[in-house]
Amino acid sequence: MSALDGWRKEARAWLASVAPRFGKAARHRLDEAADLALGRAYLAARYDAGFAGIHWPVEVGGRGLSPLHKLVFEAEELPFAMPSGYFGVSLGMPVPVLIRFASDRAWARERAIAALRGEEIWCQLFSEPAGGSDLAGLRTRAEFGDGGWRLNGQKLWTTWAQHADYGVIVARSDPALPKHKGLTYFWLDMRSPGVTVRPIRLADGTHHVNEVFFDEVLVPDSQRLSPVDGGFGVAMATLMIERYAGGDSAGFGPPLELFIETARGCIVNDRPALEDGRVRAAIARAYAARAGLDAIQQRAMRMMAEGMEPGPEGSLGKLVAVRSRQRLSELALDLMGSAGLAWHLDATTRDDWAKSWLDAPTGRIAGGADEMLLNTIAERILGLPQDHRPDKGVPFNQIPA
Ligand SMILES: Cc1cc2nc3c(=O)[nH]c(=O)nc-3n(C[C@H](O)[C@H](O)[C@H](O)COP(=O)(O)OP(=O)(O)OC[C@H]3O[C@@H](n4cnc5c(N)ncnc54)[C@H](O)[C@@H]3O)c2cc1C
Repeated sequence: MSALDGWRKEARAWLASVAPRFGKAARHRLDEAADLALGRAYLAARYDAGFAGIHWPVEVGGRGLSPLHKLVFEAEELPFAMPSGYFGVSLGMPVPVLIRFASDRAWARERAIAALRGEEIWCQLFSEPAGGSDLAGLRTRAEFGDGGWRLNGQKLWTTWAQHADYGVIVARSDPALPKHKGLTYFWLDMRSPGVTVRPIRLADGTHHVNEVFFDEVLVPDSQRLSPVDGGFGVAMATLMIERYAGGDSAGFGPPLELFIETARGCIVNDRPALEDGRVRAAIARAYAARAGLDAIQQRAMRMMAEGMEPGPEGSLGKLVAVRSRQRLSELALDLMGSAGLAWHLDATTRDDWAKSWLDAPTGRIAGGADEMLLNTIAERILGLPQDHRPDKGVPFNQIPA
């Protein structure tokens, strides 16, 4: 048995032992405040059990194990539906950035441990109305003056900003420089005067993304995490931190077995749906896509085990998986007719077709929109020429709005 198999067994046994306390049944009908409180308790238990910060350095409260150990734990954790979603962004990007770039190491360690234990939550304030796929198009201003930097502007789609204690933010510090150059990266207290968080409700009625407004928000220079005007490099480092993030060939939607079970109970043209050619072809297509993605993931994990870095083929995962999930969800709803429109209060994107279908479009945008992933595949896997970039090298304040 390899060391990783031993780790998997240990993780599975621990997860099974705490599932009655924190898993799906324990979360039944909890409102968000209670679910978040349960999530904080779960993170504290996970930290105490040694399954937190798995691949983070020991000096900042991590376990110092490999990214593979983390991927194995996450794969085991996923089916239990533990209340850990509130902390995904926080632990995924902002806190690893602090660990890497904050100069006050003792402070970074304190924040890292508080975040690992679920006591503090960080959000990522990158996207704006004019800066999403093209992050360097952002317009929130950071002006240096008395007492530090003054932030003015608006961020958009900020996940869990309503629960966040802190955030990391990129803002434009010099509009006379080309767009990638005049940006600076800071951290800030989300309770600073002048910060306003407004909810955005998504199609399924959930609220986990927000607009965040900045009105003369003062940020001391000691909270700067990049050189002045050198924030784009740190922003890129933030986005690269999770390049080892585990994929899910079901696109975080329901498993194929659930589709087959759903179809088994449906009738198409007076015959069992499972005898219908369109349904059979959809099952075969989804199976082939998922098997292909699982094989890519296995290969990436083997490369990592051998000390190599997985290549850009990781961009295929989300693109193929979420599109496949969306198509399958749509077909399941078609088969179910009006019964498909109802969903249970406790339904998740992994066990309910309506919930999965309503949520799928966000999966095709968040973490890189489909077309951006297609560009990555075109340029980095197929070696095609770069996308046309007419504003390259042009001072930001001379780019037409
Ligand atoms: C659920 C959810 C959670 C999110 N959480 C966060 C968060 O916590 N923090 C944060 O900072 N951001 C967050 N985002 C924002 C996310 O990063 C952006 O939505 C994403 O980068 C796309 O940017 P945009 O919305 O501005 O769309 P745009 O960039 O305006 O894109 C609109 C459309 O145009 C296409 N397009 C854009 N450029 C090109 C091109 N060069 N070639 C071809 N097609 C192109 C896109 O693919 C897309 O279809 C979240 C988004 C979602 C949906």
